[in-house]
Amino acid sequence: MARWLRRVLIRIHEFAVGGKVRLTAKADRELVALGLGLDPDDVRELLVSLTSADCAGRQVSRATGEWMYLFKSPVCGKLVYVKLILRSDAWLYLSTKTKKVDMKKASNHKLTRHRIGRVLPDDACPSCGTMMKQTRSRLRLPVNGEEIIVPSASHLKCSKCSEVVLRFLEAKRLHEDAIAIYRKKHGLLSADQIRAIREQFGLTQADLARLLRLGANSVSRWESGRNVQTAAMDILLRLIRDLPGSIDYLRHHAA
Ligand SMILES: [Zn+2]
Repeated sequence: MARWLRRVLIRIHEFAVGGKVRLTAKADRELVALGLGLDPDDVRELLVSLTSADCAGRQVSRATGEWMYLFKSPVCGKLVYVKLILRSDAWLYLSTKTKKVDMKKASNHKLTRHRIGRVLPDDACPSCGTMMKQTRSRLRLPVNGEEIIVPSASHLKCSKCSEVVLRFLEAKRLHEDAIAIYRKKHGLLSADQIRAIREQFGLTQADLARLLRLGANSVSRWESGRNVQTAAMDILLRLIRDLPGSIDYLRHHAA
């Protein structure tokens, strides 16, 4: 393993464990679009799990002179390219591109030698290097495939190129707010109500997920508020709660 890679992996793991992760709004949206309602905590888990075998190389950003590290990692059955800049906080970009990124295309011939590998301040724009400003405004996030507008989301914004960057806690807050807005809009059961229905029938989270033919973690993610059920699943949960015999019916038809 190259020495720079060993050093980079150690720092990425430290950042991820410490929650020192930032996401561009674009990366955050791409993450959600992968399916399964991935959230910023999943990003941390993804970063912690990166190994030298996942490394797809590094290149210098033409705009800023910073090193960008590329990793490819399977997420939800898709090969995802993760692009990182390391400053005092780790930065993350995410791309779902499955074709191999050609590192040689990123020629550095226009960069002066002294710029290569420089490190910008945490709040510098990762796309153009301008210092970004802390602000609050509307941000969109897809929830179960539906665009949800969060009216007052805290983030950093670049006045030059309009790049939007979320600190880890801001990204978490954006997800929580988007889920709350989605839940209210569709009049869905709360996380506690779902737990009560499950316990009413003495089911584990995995039992209920299996009966509803969902992924093993789905119910646990609903109950912890990391994800929210679709309106279709919500009505199924209400049927289980209110219609006698429905649990037996589901058990009979369970795969
Ligand atoms: Zn910018």
